[in-house]
Amino acid sequence: ADHRPTILVPGRINPRVRERVEAEFDAVFIDKPDARLVDADARSRVVGVASMTKISSDFIDAFPNLEIIANFGVGYDAVDAAHAASRKVMVTNTPDVLSDEVADTTVGLLLNTLREFPKAEAYLRAGRWANEGAYPLTPLTMRGRTIGIFGLGRIGLAIARRLEAFGVAIHYHTRNKRDDVEYPWHETLIGLVGAVDTLIVVVPGGAATNKAVNASILDALGANGVLISVGRGSTIDEEALISALGERRIAAAGLDVFADEPNVPQALIDLPNACLLPHVASASVSTRNAMADLVVGNLLAWFDGRPALSPVAECEGFNRTG
Ligand code: NDP
Repeated sequence: ADHRPTILVPGRINPRVRERVEAEFDAVFIDKPDARLVDADARSRVVGVASMTKISSDFIDAFPNLEIIANFGVGYDAVDAAHAASRKVMVTNTPDVLSDEVADTTVGLLLNTLREFPKAEAYLRAGRWANEGAYPLTPLTMRGRTIGIFGLGRIGLAIARRLEAFGVAIHYHTRNKRDDVEYPWHETLIGLVGAVDTLIVVVPGGAATNKAVNASILDALGANGVLISVGRGSTIDEEALISALGERRIAAAGLDVFADEPNVPQALIDLPNACLLPHVASASVSTRNAMADLVVGNLLAWFDGRPALSPVAECEGFNRTG
């Protein structure tokens, strides 16, 4: 018998997580997070989960000896962490190791949205430069913009530091004012949006931010307004956004995340002033490998009796003995 801890991997997972979990643990793989796919004997052996899929309270409750859920990704809105915490099950995520990559992507997406580089490249590739002449001048530019960051956490701050080099003004909204930055803080999102023309959304998903960016927020951003969304799709009211873009009540939007991934509304795809990416903000081999190593590192630390490397807020201070 394999006396190593049994780790369950439900659903798709990064290949390095798969390889390393197989090498270090007794690994059980199932196609989706459905406890009926695990027989009764294995169910009682499962002490850890490594996942990047939805982990519900029912799924957690199906494993009586579960100790830890190691989530691949810094955003863990798919995991019922409050329920896990109530059962003293540790939940870990992958903060910091992806912040620079996601911030780089966000700046790229902002520039692409403003200066239409993907459309300009498509114009060249279609032979239109030679046939029709220069690509049209872009109405939008980074020059002179005032940027509002909704969520000045690890990633938001990495974005702000990069944008300083662009010579743009930076404001932010969080629930708690930071005492380590000079950027103007706004107590409310509507207050932030009233002061800026560009909104970068990088808050976590979940109930507290659900559809926080609604029609009123978009209208307050104004006709020269640009929305960039790299946190979670749930934070944006997509229908309100589609109307605002279609009616030019805001100028443009750049999105890496969507409400119902991988399904993107056709109305959004059809809009010329939307710049769309398939959730690739952290998606380089090196950054995803670093995230994989942090997932496995959390499991190894935990079953070695050491503190988890990156517990989520709900599970701060939990350890193996309770
Ligand atoms: P952090 O926890 O470091 O930062 C979150 C920030 O959001 C904090 O400043 C927090 O401040 C603020 N915040 C949280 N809730 C609210 C709220 N209800 N109202 C206003 N502000 C709020 O997280 P990271 O920066 O590491 O990551 C942020 C999110 O980005 C992740 O949760 C994930 O969903 C997303 N992400 C997306 C990726 C992609 O591929 N597109 C890749 C990586 C992350 P305060 O608590 O004071 O309100």
